[in-house]
Amino acid sequence: TQAPVNVTVTGAAGQIGYALLFRIASGQLLGADTPVRLRLLEIPQAVSAAEGTALELEDGAFSLLDGVDIFDDAKRAFEGCNVALLVGARPRTKGMERGDLLEANGGIFKPQGEAINAGAAADVKVLVVGNPANTNALIAQAHAPDVPAGRFTAMTRLDHNRALAQLSGKLNTPVSQIKKLTIWGNHSATQYPDVFHAEAAGRNVAEAINDEKWLAEEFIPRVAKRGAEIIEARGASSAASAASAAIDHMHTWVNGTSSDDWTSMAIPSDGSYGVPEGLISSFPVRCSGGNYEIVQGLEINEFSRPRIDASVNELVEERDAVRKLGLV
Ligand code: NDP
Repeated sequence: TQAPVNVTVTGAAGQIGYALLFRIASGQLLGADTPVRLRLLEIPQAVSAAEGTALELEDGAFSLLDGVDIFDDAKRAFEGCNVALLVGARPRTKGMERGDLLEANGGIFKPQGEAINAGAAADVKVLVVGNPANTNALIAQAHAPDVPAGRFTAMTRLDHNRALAQLSGKLNTPVSQIKKLTIWGNHSATQYPDVFHAEAAGRNVAEAINDEKWLAEEFIPRVAKRGAEIIEARGASSAASAASAAIDHMHTWVNGTSSDDWTSMAIPSDGSYGVPEGLISSFPVRCSGGNYEIVQGLEINEFSRPRIDASVNELVEERDAVRKLGLV
């Protein structure tokens, strides 16, 4: 049998963490042949809650779970880490300015980047879920100069999955038959779900819908504001769907996309599609052999261009703001 893979989860005692850990332990992150060792990071006040979750994990009697260790020190939590899921972040609270939010998250993601740099395994793969995810990933990456920059990614898979679900309903086609959808830009309200290259049961989605007004006024805002819709209905923010998307992101990165499809991941830009190099922005991505590459050569039409640019401009502003704070 294989040696266990070290999976570090931050914010492990939070809502998303609670939904995520059981799926990792059951083998859904890395596959049914891969044992995992969980390394949970929490702030000191939440360590006891994480210990409670660890007791429940024990009670799951998961055959793939090799052990659970809990830390309040990032350096130790990332020792030997192969897969890092950075979920814990400082949420925006009432009256908080964006600068304050970015600064508070700098205080979290800078030391985590340093800890990954110091102690993670050579093959480490990092997914940032905690918001503002793209810029938090940029901060962590900036403090891990010895780790290839491309190992730092941020999650837009939930947006991708939300868009798939909306299209499935609209076109009355199973999600499994909808391919080549793309989320561009920032994981925020400016994100752009692009259906112009997507296919539903082999048919071009934009042509099948043939209604730009529906795209502009219903589909795009529905996907972008789905988080708020869930808070309204559930009385709490989405957690299980976010955890599920984190599983999907990492599973796809490790195991690959199918040859007739791609996925959406926020990754460091190489300048493709006019996205400034180095920004962690969402692209259409194909994965294979544990690596990924941006899908090249897509035509960006007049509907898409300004929407991609608006989201990318927001990322430029966030980057400039954290630069000013000396965080990148
Ligand atoms: P959640 O587990 O609900 O959310 C965690 C993060 O994920 C938030 O930043 C949240 O952003 C983000 N997120 C990304 N996508 C989504 C989505 N679709 N739906 C909801 N959230 C999303 O937060 P909790 O408050 O329950 O738990 C956070 C935990 O993190 C706490 O236990 C806290 O102690 C811990 N923490 C740990 C740190 C560490 O390990 N060093 C540092 C900071 C916190 P948004 O706020 O925008 O919803």
